[in-house]
Amino acid sequence: MGVILSAEELNVYYGSIHAVKDVSFEVNEGEVVTLIGANGAGKSTTLNTIAGLLRSRTGCVRFMGEDLSHVPSHKIVAKGMALVPEGRRVFLQMSVQENLEMGAYTKSSGGIPADLEMVFEQFPRLKERRRQVAGTLSGGEQQMLAMGRALMSHPKLLMLDEPSMGLAPILVEQIFDIIQSLHKAGTTILLVEQNAQMALSVADRGYVLETGKVVTTGPSAELLASPAIKKAYLGG
Ligand code: ATP
Repeated sequence: MGVILSAEELNVYYGSIHAVKDVSFEVNEGEVVTLIGANGAGKSTTLNTIAGLLRSRTGCVRFMGEDLSHVPSHKIVAKGMALVPEGRRVFLQMSVQENLEMGAYTKSSGGIPADLEMVFEQFPRLKERRRQVAGTLSGGEQQMLAMGRALMSHPKLLMLDEPSMGLAPILVEQIFDIIQSLHKAGTTILLVEQNAQMALSVADRGYVLETGKVVTTGPSAELLASPAIKKAYLGG
């Protein structure tokens, strides 16, 4: 299992605010890795830096061995990285199927029907609702749609920013079941979550961020068992 992504000594600023401080981590092919931490810990900033939407002042992001420092974000997608941003951001006026087809923009049209079937297999709910306008979907369904749209580009790395946000517990379970099954199917996933319990239950390894810094890292089982992590992130 080789390293597919490495973040090396990232330092990201918003003006004078130092939001991400010397953050380094790796994701191996086929792994689910989670970045957990409280509000404002720098999780989204880190993810957006990986995707090229923000730039680090130091270090670099290496994807499949290539330094992405000077690669624009639209080219990063074509290299096989897909980001499902916080808040889903599906195209509300378009149907479910049209949204999914938008995700396939890097591919020739010949493959789209097969890709749609692949996504519908993962998300049967979307198949039932393929002609429904996305704006009328529930929050959980919109999250599924955003994930399905990302999968349409066959990403080598799928990045999910807080997929559980704003969802009822039952939907959170469903979303994490799907993450689990994508993991089993071999998808490499970088998952950002405030819901540490759920994130660590599906991830192989985790990194804990506090005020912009990685403070702990380890296999998920180890983090779940750690008294300090339990106290700070798992409600006891
Ligand atoms: P959340 O779970 O609340 O999204 P997070 O861990 O993803 O938290 P970030 O959104 O990465 O945290 O924010 C890290 C820090 O950077 C915070 O202190 C935040 O206030 C600050 N920050 C984020 N975006 C901006 C911005 N556009 N301008 C200025 N500061 C920002």
